[in-house]
Amino acid sequence: MHTKLFIPGPVDVAPDVLEKMGTPMIGHRTKAASNLQRSISEKMQKVMFTNRPILLSTSSGTGLMEGSIRSCTRKRAAVFSVGAFGKRWHEIAEANGVPADLFESETGAPTTPEMVEDALATGKYDLVTITHNETSTGIMNPVEAIAEVIKKYPDVVFALDTVSSMAGTKIEVDRLGVDLCITSTQKALGLPPGLAICSISEKAIEAARQVPNRGYYLDLLTLYEYIQKKDHQYPSTPSLSHMFALNYQLDRILEEGLENRFQRHLKMAQYTRRWAKEQFELFPKEAYASNTLTTVKNTKGLSVADLNKKLGKRGYSISNGYGSLKEKTFRIAHMADTTLEELKTLLKEIDDIIK
Ligand SMILES: *Cc1c(COP(=O)(O)O)cnc(C)c1O
Repeated sequence: MHTKLFIPGPVDVAPDVLEKMGTPMIGHRTKAASNLQRSISEKMQKVMFTNRPILLSTSSGTGLMEGSIRSCTRKRAAVFSVGAFGKRWHEIAEANGVPADLFESETGAPTTPEMVEDALATGKYDLVTITHNETSTGIMNPVEAIAEVIKKYPDVVFALDTVSSMAGTKIEVDRLGVDLCITSTQKALGLPPGLAICSISEKAIEAARQVPNRGYYLDLLTLYEYIQKKDHQYPSTPSLSHMFALNYQLDRILEEGLENRFQRHLKMAQYTRRWAKEQFELFPKEAYASNTLTTVKNTKGLSVADLNKKLGKRGYSISNGYGSLKEKTFRIAHMADTTLEELKTLLKEIDDIIK
């Protein structure tokens, strides 16, 4: 029996999308490969509300996080964190010898525009990383207000992690002035894991030109220059299987309509929050609760492991809390192609187990 996934990645993939992963291979140096990559880029630009070039990486989202901070930090990076994925940026910087400082919010609280302003006003930083949607805690940061602050610092490259929110909520990359907007396939996009995607601005490209050691496989400048020179091809052999599936899934997403898709996610989030407040409590402040997953405070002191085991017998899976929050919270994802009806069924099952 397939266990229906309500975990924040990987998500369930529609059968027809999965089938596209089995498309017969084409040469990666063919016109057909160029057309495939160009088609993906054009559709991703719509999803991201950007006119900027789109880069693909055969890696998971972490790959392009590494590529971004290493390729585009000239002086020093300011890393803002509201959980495990925010901290990951800092670990990546340290592992690559990229100078970086970590700015953490209190547990459950967002990154604030004031924190960003205070850091950037020092003049020490030329790259800033923000987690749009922190999957470990279910916090969606106030990216509009943060973007307004970053706009005041034209030399600063703005890298935004939208791994678990892109295609689930509206993120207007160009209007927000995001220089590097990073996502990957296995979350709100609704595909198997294995491909990462980012948009890249002229400012980020210029920054990369000034960085001498950008690595090799994840060098964003190489990826960018290659698609320019070789008509939307990839420097090494990409996961063509993912590209076939992504190209098809983007058609499905655009067919649903972006606004409809964002509304569907919002309705699922609102429903889950209401349920969570009736039965438990929300973990983040409600104003910063994510639209793609809900983190619930385990106020009943349940064994989350046991709850998940019982759900598993009924064919469902949710996530325990992340790291030290493992038993203190649990997480219900409502993203990608999940419907409100499916979500209601899951919550009824939980009600039945805990009653
Ligand atoms: C899942 C996730 C990542 C890591 O992405 P991978 O594709 O697993 O490498 C980074 N940031 C956020 C917010 C995530 O949800």
